[in-house]
Amino acid sequence: MSKPQRTPVVPLEAGGGPDNPPCPACGEPLFGWIDSRPGLAGPVSRCESCGLGVVGEPGSVEEALRELDRLEAEADGAVRIANRAGFSAWLGGAGWAGLERGARYLFTVEAVRRLVAHRDQVVKKPRWAPAAGIAAMWQTALNSFTFGRNVALGRLGRSAAVPADRPWQRRLDALIVVVVAIPALLAAVPLELIAAALGRGGTVSLRFELL
Ligand SMILES: [Zn+2]
Repeated sequence: MSKPQRTPVVPLEAGGGPDNPPCPACGEPLFGWIDSRPGLAGPVSRCESCGLGVVGEPGSVEEALRELDRLEAEADGAVRIANRAGFSAWLGGAGWAGLERGARYLFTVEAVRRLVAHRDQVVKKPRWAPAAGIAAMWQTALNSFTFGRNVALGRLGRSAAVPADRPWQRRLDALIVVVVAIPALLAAVPLELIAAALGRGGTVSLRFELL
């Protein structure tokens, strides 16, 4: 009689280790996503469970919550996240507009849910922010043409830009933005509308309430 075969169960945590530190939001291992880029403190990793993106070494829950609280708040107290689970982040990769200079955590609705649960809060009614979402998709499209990153939104004071290194590249970027702005917008509007319809909008506002 042969021994019964055991199906090995490999939990996601098994991927954990020095190269895959735990996600501050949900504790699952982080995996490499994007190499180090100008304007970023280190390579970017992502959690395949809650979607959180982390620039450089992952910190604690408290640090991630502090970064969340630093995000722009709306009049009603809602907080806006550049959605790493959005269509623009998926399309843009390293050119995604959410990778602003100095970015630390790249949130998703699920990652925020996990984080605020640590302080007994729940996320109420995530809402797509249309203008900001279209602007992020537009800037993501422009980033594929320019040497620098987020040049256009940076000019408008809506993002922390990462200008190109050389003066001639910066001059060319300024020209490229003028030439490509309208075609990029014509592409960005339908793309972001589709993204929002699929629940993958690029900018989402969230309200928190105590449990
Ligand atoms: Zn996670």
